[in-house]
Amino acid sequence: MKKMGLNEIRKAFLDFYESKGHFVTSSYPLVPMNDKSLLLVNAGMQPLKNYFTGIETPPNSTMATCQKCIRTGDIENVGVTARHATFFEMLGNFSFGDYFKEGSIKLGWEFITEVLEMPVEKLWPSVYLEDDEAFAIWRDVIGIPEEKITRLGKADNFWEIGTGPCGPCSEIYYDRGEAYGCDDPNCRPGCDCERYLEFWNHVFTQFNRDDQGNYTELEKKNIDTGMGLERIACIMQDVDTIFEVDTIQRIRDAVIAFSGVEYGKNRDQDISVRIVTDHIKAVTFMVGDGIMPNNEGRGYVLRRLLRRAARHAKKIGMEGNVLTKLVDTVIEVYGENYQNLVDRMDYIKRIISIEEERFQTTIDQGLGILSEYIDALVKEGQKELDGERAFKLYDTYGFPLELTMEILAERHLTVNEAEFKQQMTEQKDRARTARGTGDELGWASDAVSQLPKDIVSKFVGYNSLEKTCKLVAVVGEEIVNEAFEGMEVTLVLDETPFYPEGGGQVGDVGMIYTDGFMAEVIETKKSVGRIIGHNVRVVKGSVKVGDNVTASVNLTKRMATARNHSATHLLHKALRTVLGTHVEQAGSMVNPERLRFDFSHFEPISFEDLMAIEKMVNQQIFASLKIETEEMPIASAKEKGAMALFGEKYGDKVRVVTMGDYSIELCGGTHLTNTAEVGLFKIMSETGVAAGVRRIEAITGENVYNLLTDLDNKLNHISDILKSNIQDVEHKAEQLLVEMKHFQKENEQLKSKIAKNSMGEIIDQMKEINGYKVVTAKFEGVDMNILRNLGDVIKDKFENSVIVLANVSDDKVEFLSMASDSAIKKGAHAGNIIREVAKVAGGGGGGKPNMAQAGGKNPEKVDEALQKVYALLS
Ligand SMILES: [Zn+2]
Ligand SMILES: [Zn+2]
Repeated sequence: MKKMGLNEIRKAFLDFYESKGHFVTSSYPLVPMNDKSLLLVNAGMQPLKNYFTGIETPPNSTMATCQKCIRTGDIENVGVTARHATFFEMLGNFSFGDYFKEGSIKLGWEFITEVLEMPVEKLWPSVYLEDDEAFAIWRDVIGIPEEKITRLGKADNFWEIGTGPCGPCSEIYYDRGEAYGCDDPNCRPGCDCERYLEFWNHVFTQFNRDDQGNYTELEKKNIDTGMGLERIACIMQDVDTIFEVDTIQRIRDAVIAFSGVEYGKNRDQDISVRIVTDHIKAVTFMVGDGIMPNNEGRGYVLRRLLRRAARHAKKIGMEGNVLTKLVDTVIEVYGENYQNLVDRMDYIKRIISIEEERFQTTIDQGLGILSEYIDALVKEGQKELDGERAFKLYDTYGFPLELTMEILAERHLTVNEAEFKQQMTEQKDRARTARGTGDELGWASDAVSQLPKDIVSKFVGYNSLEKTCKLVAVVGEEIVNEAFEGMEVTLVLDETPFYPEGGGQVGDVGMIYTDGFMAEVIETKKSVGRIIGHNVRVVKGSVKVGDNVTASVNLTKRMATARNHSATHLLHKALRTVLGTHVEQAGSMVNPERLRFDFSHFEPISFEDLMAIEKMVNQQIFASLKIETEEMPIASAKEKGAMALFGEKYGDKVRVVTMGDYSIELCGGTHLTNTAEVGLFKIMSETGVAAGVRRIEAITGENVYNLLTDLDNKLNHISDILKSNIQDVEHKAEQLLVEMKHFQKENEQLKSKIAKNSMGEIIDQMKEINGYKVVTAKFEGVDMNILRNLGDVIKDKFENSVIVLANVSDDKVEFLSMASDSAIKKGAHAGNIIREVAKVAGGGGGGKPNMAQAGGKNPEKVDEALQKVYALLS
C-alpha cells in the first residue's frame, strides 16, 4: 500500500476519475444553493441533487468531486471519539444514467487496488441481501471469492429517504487485522467491532418508491458514491484516529504548541485539543464561504462552533486571539486545494477575530456568573438551571445554549430548554414589534447605522431602473467591506435606482452585478434616514468597496407595484367622492400583488357604494389621465389642494403627484405615467380593522386578468358539471334546486308510507314474553317522528305492549323504545330497556318509563341489539 498524504489522496482520486472521462469540478460551497431547508451541505451528492432528480441537466453524464461538508449532529462526540468531526471532505463519483453497478464497482476497484495499491486480501465488499446482480459482479467480474462477499440488510445496505429514488448499496470494507477484532468466530463486515472499517459506499439508485411502499425500476438509473477522505487517509497512513492524519495532525500540533499542554497526558486536555483542532477547520471553511456568525440558522452554527472552540482553547491555557492565529495553519494545510481560503485569508481572520474578541470580553464575566448559578444549584440540591438564567447568559454574555448545557453537564446538571425557548420566542416577538414601529431599519443588522456619517445614498430611481453606481459599504453583522458567493449582506451604493421600502410601498427587488459578480436584491430598506441598504444574497463572484456595479431593478415587479400605488391614489379620491370628505387615509400597503388601503369611516360600505367606488376608479383608468410629479414648497402644494396624510412629517420641499384634474397627493412613491397603465381595478374585500377604520383590498392589471381567467374557467367547469351552457347555467342551477326539494319531499312521503304499511307486518311478528306483548322492528332512513307515531298507535292498540324500533342511517343507528301504562305497571321501563339495547350497538342513553330514545355507532349490530329486548323481558 502506498503511503499517501490526505492532499495526495484527494488529487489522485480526482485525477483518476478525470482520466476515465468524468467531469471533475472543485467543491461546491458549504451554503446549499438548491435547498433552502438545509443549512449546510452535508454530503457529496447534495449539491448535485437537481441532476439526480432531473430538474437540471448535468454538465456531463459522469462527474467526480471532493466535497467539503459540515455535520453538527454528533458535535458532543467530536474530540471524544477517534472518528467524529464537524468538518470533513467526501470523495465521490457520480453517474447520471450513464454506467451503473458494474461500471461503478470496476472503476472503484481499479482506483483502490491500482492507484492506492491497497492489498486485495484486505478488502471485503458487502452487498444488499437481495442484490444478486451486485453479488455476481463482485464474484465474476472482480473475482472476489463468494465467502468474502457479505450480504447485509436494509439498515446497512439500502439507501432511501421516504418516497422517491432509492436503491441498494455496496460498501467496501478494509480489514484492519485480528488485533482489532472480537472473539466472535463469525466476525466479518457488519460486525460491531473495530476490525472491518467501511470506507466506500456505492449507492445504486435503481428504484422509485411510491407512497404505498411499492418499488418500481427507474428508467434512468444513477450512481452516487461517497468515501470519507479523512477515513481513507486513516487507512492509507495506518493511524487510529483522524487527528493523526498528516494534515489534521499539523493543525493539532499547532494547537498543542500554542497551548503548551503535553498531549497524551490528560484525557480532558486531549479532548479540548481535538475539539479546537476540528472546530477551527470548520470555522475557517465556513467563513471562507461567506457565512457570518450571528444568532440564526447557519450563522448560529458558526457562532456555536467558534465559541465552543474559544472556550476549549481557554481551558487548555490558550490566550488572546489564538483562533485567528490557527487560521494560518488551516490555510497552509488546505490552501493548495481550496484557493478561496488563500484569497480570503485576511477577511477570514478579520471575521474570526471580531467574533473572538467579542466573546473574550464577556466570557470571563459570563463564566463567573454561570459558576455562581452552579454553586447555587448545588447548594439547593437542584439539578436544573431555569430557562430565564440560561437565556440571560445567552443574551447578555453570548453563551450559546449548547455551551451552557455543556458546562453544566460537566457537573451533571441540565437546563430547562422549554423555558429557554419560551424566552427566546418572547424576545423575538419584542424585536418584531419594535421593528414594526418604524420602517427605517436594516435587515442583516443595525450595523448599517454604524457606517460613517459621510456615507449617504441618493435615490435616482424615479425615472431610471438601471444605473452604474459605486459600492460604498458592505455590511453583515459587522462592516466587512467585501462580499462573495453565498453571503447574505447589505450593500450600500452612492446612488441607486432601487426604491427603499417607505410610504406604504414595498422596496424594489432586482440584481446588482459586475462582469464577475452577481447578487440578488431581496429587499431594499432605508436606514438612519440617509442610507439605502440593499439586502442581497450573493449568487456568484465577489465585490469590494470602491468597485463600480450595475444596479438593475426588476421591471415587472416595479411596474406591478406602481399600478397598485397609482390605483391607491385613485381609490382615495373615489372614496372621498362617494362616501364624503370625512374619509382620510389611515395607512396603506402596496406591493406587486395587491394594494391595501385603510381609511376613516364609521360603518361597513354598502354593496352599491362599493360598486360605485370601483366603477369610478375604473373610469379614471379608462379616461387615460396623465400622471405627473413635481417638487415644490409645502405651502404651494397645500394651496393647490394636495391631500397630505395626517401623522406624516414633510420637509420644506415636497413631491406632489397629480393625476389629470382628478387627484393630487403628496407622495414619495414610484408611479405610472398614465392612469391607463393600471389596466383594470378590482376590489377584493372591504372589512373593519379598528373602531372607525375600514380597509379595502384590491388588485390591478395582470392580477385582475388572472382573476378573470380563473373565474371564467370555474364557470365553464360548473356549466360542464351541470350539463348546461354558460348562458343558461344560472337558470339550470335554480331548476336543479327546485327539483331536489321536490324529490326530498316525495322521498319523505314515500318512506312514511312504507313505515305505515309495514304496521301489519310488524304486528304479525309480535311476541308474547312473560305476559308482555313485544314488538321490535328495523327501519332505514325514516323520520323519527313517523316512528314515534307508529309506536303510539301500537301502544294504544295493545295492552302490556313494549315496543323497540331501530332506525339505521349511514353509519349510525337510533333507537326508540315505548311501554304502555299497563306494561309499566307490570315492571317494564322503556328507559332501562333502551340503555341495554343501545349498549349492544355501541351507544348509550336512557329516558322515562313510557318513552326513551338513544343512539348507537354500530349499525351492523342492530339485529343483535333488538334481540336483547326479549332477553331483558324474560
Ligand atoms: Zn467482530
Ligand atoms: Zn402615494
